[in-house]
Amino acid sequence: MHEYKGVIHIHSTYSDGSGSVEEILKAASEVDIDYIILTDHNTIQAKTDGYEGWYNDLMLIVGYELNDKDDKNHYLVFGLDEVPKDIDDAKNYLDFVEKKKGIGFIAHPMEKRKNLNMHPAYPWTRWDLENYTGIEIWNHMSEWVEGLTDKNKLNRLIHPLKSIHAPSRDTLRLWDRVNRSRSVPAIGSVDAHAHKQDLGGFFNLEIFAYKILFKSIRTHVLLDDDIGLKKRHRFDKQKKEIFEALKCGHSFVGNYYHGDAKGFRFSAQVKKKKFIMGDTVQKEKNDVVNFSAQVPLGGEIRLLRNGEVIHEENGMEMLYNTRDFGNYRIEVYKGKKGWIYSNNIRIIL
Ligand SMILES: [Zn+2]
Ligand SMILES: [Zn+2]
Repeated sequence: MHEYKGVIHIHSTYSDGSGSVEEILKAASEVDIDYIILTDHNTIQAKTDGYEGWYNDLMLIVGYELNDKDDKNHYLVFGLDEVPKDIDDAKNYLDFVEKKKGIGFIAHPMEKRKNLNMHPAYPWTRWDLENYTGIEIWNHMSEWVEGLTDKNKLNRLIHPLKSIHAPSRDTLRLWDRVNRSRSVPAIGSVDAHAHKQDLGGFFNLEIFAYKILFKSIRTHVLLDDDIGLKKRHRFDKQKKEIFEALKCGHSFVGNYYHGDAKGFRFSAQVKKKKFIMGDTVQKEKNDVVNFSAQVPLGGEIRLLRNGEVIHEENGMEMLYNTRDFGNYRIEVYKGKKGWIYSNNIRIIL
């Protein structure tokens, strides 16, 4: 499989980001990433204006982020050229994206803003709706703002990457829960705005630059195809392959701040057949599943089944055999900080 690492959920001057698409491209070209996905609020104008495409080694893809009339239920949409007109209610846009065969990820689903009364949270509230594609389990901006207090403001501003610990327990628990009834893929994102806003007199400056955020949370996709230099004229096909990988959960989330997660793998073998993250494996009761995880650079590897840690190992590899059904995924930690989060391998009868 071929691995591509990207940064998802970026706002430009087409909505409330402070940087132009050119500035974002420049920042992205200075760090080692393969693709970026712009998601301006309720607009796909960057695509209409012709920005999508290859820029040397970098793919720029344009999606968008929707919200309802109460500015809740933010939804990241990929693979469509059209923005729905009726966005009063999340139901309308989930139905729209499904009907048009796009894919969508619930953004910052459990956002809380304990310490910032003037900046409300934008959580997901419509859990009655089931036709979303997946969930954003880790959002840099959301975590950064959520932990902000008067006391730590300066420190968090100076060390935006160091301030990030791990996806919230609540979000991971929720993700594990919704995965019980169907496969729900996860992505990680930065939600970059490079904000220049006044957070109480103190923050009257750019909170952090795009380039810095491009060195934090990334989503790595695994594709069958090699998106090499030779194949660059096939942008639309390559873009679809990335979307397909995100939709199937053939992907994992890594925080680059703790090291490049490139090369991480989580797979399962049943009766000589191999499966990867995002796959559903059907097996007989007594068939043994051989799980295997490879971790570049090494770390504290945890194997979870239905959200519970069932096995831990330190190092660059983890092997584990079982006959039990369930959803299995990997978390890798560096000290107390979360580094890598795999999608699930579902073992079913
Ligand atoms: Zn949002
Ligand atoms: Zn956003």
